[in-house]
Amino acid sequence: MLTINYLSYIDLLTKAQAKYCMSKTLFIHHSQFDQHSVPPSHPESPLRNLAVEAKLRESGLWQDLDVRFCQPTDKEKLKLVHTPGYIDQLYQISPAKGMILADRDTPLAFDTLRAAEEAAGSGIQAVNSILQEGYQNVFCAIRPPGHHAEPNKTMGFCFVNNIALAAEYALTQPGINRVAIFDFDVHQANGTIEAFKNRDDVLVVSTFQHPHYPNSHWSVNAENIINIPIEAETASTQFRRQVETPVMASISRFKPDLILVSAGFDAHTLDPMGEVDLIEDDFYWLTPNDSKPSQHLQQGSNRIHARRGL
Ligand SMILES: [Zn+2]
Repeated sequence: MLTINYLSYIDLLTKAQAKYCMSKTLFIHHSQFDQHSVPPSHPESPLRNLAVEAKLRESGLWQDLDVRFCQPTDKEKLKLVHTPGYIDQLYQISPAKGMILADRDTPLAFDTLRAAEEAAGSGIQAVNSILQEGYQNVFCAIRPPGHHAEPNKTMGFCFVNNIALAAEYALTQPGINRVAIFDFDVHQANGTIEAFKNRDDVLVVSTFQHPHYPNSHWSVNAENIINIPIEAETASTQFRRQVETPVMASISRFKPDLILVSAGFDAHTLDPMGEVDLIEDDFYWLTPNDSKPSQHLQQGSNRIHARRGL
């Protein structure tokens, strides 16, 4: 079912490309789609990325993209976001073969950390592509996902917070002093929020179903954190009504040099992971092509679609 969301998003990209002749998008993906093995029934499946690429090729959009493999980052760079002890321990417990559970729902396989290094590296690569090569959009189709990973713990299928690392890296680059992260997903971005709470150089805006996993948005009260809880069964019109003003107001006020979009599609009505009832056009509306909230946000700002799954 998660595949449907991916496919829908690719349809939206196709539509945007055809209708608005947007500038060329860089698409970054893994060197091997099936890195990071998980149990067969696990919802965070490698088939998701395979489905993305299949749909891109089928639609013809693949030829219009610049496509690159992820450039893996190294263990030390992960410490820009995570505590050294956590990263060292993660590498220590990584199995040489098979898989273990890093927490109750986060399988860590022999090939997970290689995939995590690629996923995290793609965010750095995306920032460099925008700042040094002039790309207007970069889309990273990556796994494992990252937004639940906190500075010192795995959580919710996540090991390394990919979007947080991209933001921290961007802030080391000339001319990037303020970064906004917009996370739309049926789950709250607890890891990203934990990484940046009370910072004045990063804004995090998170939309999510409430009540729902990880049930933690009341735990952080900070000026730079904007939580937008959405009730189950909320559909397009009501969702847009609830989201547009707080997203627009907070990001406009913040005046970021770079916008990172942490894009989860599990608020789709067909996704079994949540009960929000969004459809394809809602994701189109949310993303920085011509969509309503983001068309204003694009002014004076670069942005990345840093793809994350769950
Ligand atoms: Zn999610």
